[in-house]
Amino acid sequence: MARFTTTDEFNIRCGYGSDIGLHREINEDHLLVSETVFAVADGMGGHEAGEVASRLAIQNLEALADGYNGDINATALQEALEDADNNIHEVGAGRAGTTVTGAALIMENGQPYWLVFNVGDSRTYRLRDGKLELLTVDHSEVQDLINHGYITAEEARFHPRRHVITRALGAGAANQADFYLYPVIAGDRLLICSDGLSTELEDDEIHALLTTYPEAQTAVNELITHALARGGRDNVTVIVVDAVPNPNTAS
Ligand code: MN
Repeated sequence: MARFTTTDEFNIRCGYGSDIGLHREINEDHLLVSETVFAVADGMGGHEAGEVASRLAIQNLEALADGYNGDINATALQEALEDADNNIHEVGAGRAGTTVTGAALIMENGQPYWLVFNVGDSRTYRLRDGKLELLTVDHSEVQDLINHGYITAEEARFHPRRHVITRALGAGAANQADFYLYPVIAGDRLLICSDGLSTELEDDEIHALLTTYPEAQTAVNELITHALARGGRDNVTVIVVDAVPNPNTAS
């Protein structure tokens, strides 16, 4: 499955998928794939509250993407997330919450950029020149412990409080997103995922799969398959966005 956007330098191709996993009764993750905005939201709250929360986050981003006429920036994204935060409060009565992360493909001064955003512990990575880089910083208790030198990133993967997040939409937590702006380089591959992927697979394994499978949908399918094979303890949601170099552009 592929969506398609074209510039002179590259074509956008995208694969995506979401799996309930092997132990959960419902899938509380939602995703957005549009021409300009790509996002994953991971809801929490139980009794389907999380499913509603992540859906509301994605619906607000979808409305922003649908109305896009060159005006998506960090301010517009934060407003959409705060609208979602309010919507979730209204229906969730403080119990529902969601993470959200992803990237908007925007133009600034005629140049394409990834505007990466994050609230919570879902993640956006970039594969460039064969190197995998985590672009977002988790808003989680274990990330705070890492930052203060108390535990390592590897220890965090198995820490008993690894699921406790410090920012979210809904749930009364801080809703401020982090934003990062990166020029799009032809050949870039973004990975946007819920923690059902990044908890089951180490970054080295994610890197190996992303470099082994050049086609975006195949890479998504392989990542999900491996997360399930490793235990599938959580819902797992994956988007891969490729800026495929345009063969017609001399470089
Ligand atoms: Mn999750």
